[in-house]
Amino acid sequence: MTDIIRDAETTGKERKRLFIKTYGCQMNVYDSERMRDVLAPLGYEPADEPDGADLVILNTCHIREKAAEKVYSELGRLKTLKEEKASTGKPMTITVAGCVAQAEGAEIQRRAPVVDLVVGPQTYHKLPELIANVHRERGEALDTEFEVEEKFDALATPERHVDGFTAFVTVQEGCDKFCTFCVVPYTRGAEWSRPVDQIVAEVRALAAKGVREVTLLGQNVNAFHGEAPKGDPEGGVWGLGRLVRHLAKIGGIERIRFTTSHPKDMDDDLIQAFADEPKLMPYFHLPVQAGSDKILKSMNRSHTAAEYLDIIARLRAARPDIAISGDMIVGFPGETEADFEATMELVRQVNYASCFSFKYSKRPGTPGAAMFNQIDETVKGERLARLQALLTEQQVAFNQSMIGKTLPVLFEREGRFEGQLSGRSPYLQAVHCEGPVELIGQIANVEITGATKNALSGRLATKESAAA
Ligand code: SF4
Repeated sequence: MTDIIRDAETTGKERKRLFIKTYGCQMNVYDSERMRDVLAPLGYEPADEPDGADLVILNTCHIREKAAEKVYSELGRLKTLKEEKASTGKPMTITVAGCVAQAEGAEIQRRAPVVDLVVGPQTYHKLPELIANVHRERGEALDTEFEVEEKFDALATPERHVDGFTAFVTVQEGCDKFCTFCVVPYTRGAEWSRPVDQIVAEVRALAAKGVREVTLLGQNVNAFHGEAPKGDPEGGVWGLGRLVRHLAKIGGIERIRFTTSHPKDMDDDLIQAFADEPKLMPYFHLPVQAGSDKILKSMNRSHTAAEYLDIIARLRAARPDIAISGDMIVGFPGETEADFEATMELVRQVNYASCFSFKYSKRPGTPGAAMFNQIDETVKGERLARLQALLTEQQVAFNQSMIGKTLPVLFEREGRFEGQLSGRSPYLQAVHCEGPVELIGQIANVEITGATKNALSGRLATKESAAA
């Protein structure tokens, strides 16, 4: 890679424009940032639009239905832009990355010859080399092998571009759970954790650049079992609770979050961390997907509704103000009205602060897609509407319960209106209030005076009101 960088530095003083379109989850947002970082030494600078870009990367997601079709239709639009650019004598390199790249592989270039390069999630560190190969019209342009350790070793550099005061840090990748509706184990590979030393170096570097809040990412983040830091007398591996407490000691880091967790991997130490580590924010996303044990078994979730509710009760005992968020799927194959009612009952018992909910849709290659007892779309739609009405009611009630309270808000940017600032509460709610721009990047107390489904509003607290 060194030779390639030298090529760019010595011959290519001109800056090149890089447009990355990111689909899907926070893991993809993080990966897009790392791709941008790894390409920066080659002279690539971020562009807001694909028009005229030298390199376009579609960082794809395979979670939603017809994900691949959406990518092909985007590629159709890019074909026109590529042709326009070619007419000016300059090439546009088009790369498909992410989970659709992993799942579809060579099929992408067969169906869409406009694509120059296909890279799976574990090979982004090789992007400079692969792109150089494309430019030199030689070499292998398809690289979707699972080599996760190599990826993180290569991307371990703390030279991250930082956009604001919050940042994602991947600590774990992949999944061995094989829920019958999910493609992740097929696209992201087996579960793997980064060594603690590497994570600490990255978070220290982020803190030095002004980051105040880190969100630790992993498809199964609470399955984290990273190699203990060098010099740790006990050695072995650390769990997520221990990692969180360790990262909380890094100067400048004021808030820590993590996502996405699995009930099966919830341990006492992580629950205890919510009780004793004030920098761990009291907001926890714990998907359950369904409230019926029959459906949970068919989904291969390896836990029951009662076990999930027990975890929630233990979390609330450890941190009484904790806000719970979740994911729900309705209309999984075989779901009866009674099964759906069990989901509604679980939702009533948990009382979510927020929750994502979806109709089940088949993912090619997953066991769920081959199940014979698929549910009619109209029934799915009707159940989803009932579930979402209940979840909306809970979310609004949770937000309204903040009125009259004073919350510490990390201000991230100016708001939509003049003189307005926007930030996040400890419970991840968007908060808007008037205030000086100097507060951006800082945590300040806000008296909450209004609440909608999606945001809170208020005024900066005076010393007296904050103490009240
Ligand atoms: S635990 Fe999560 S990532 Fe793993 S298979 Fe299940 S839904 Fe997918």
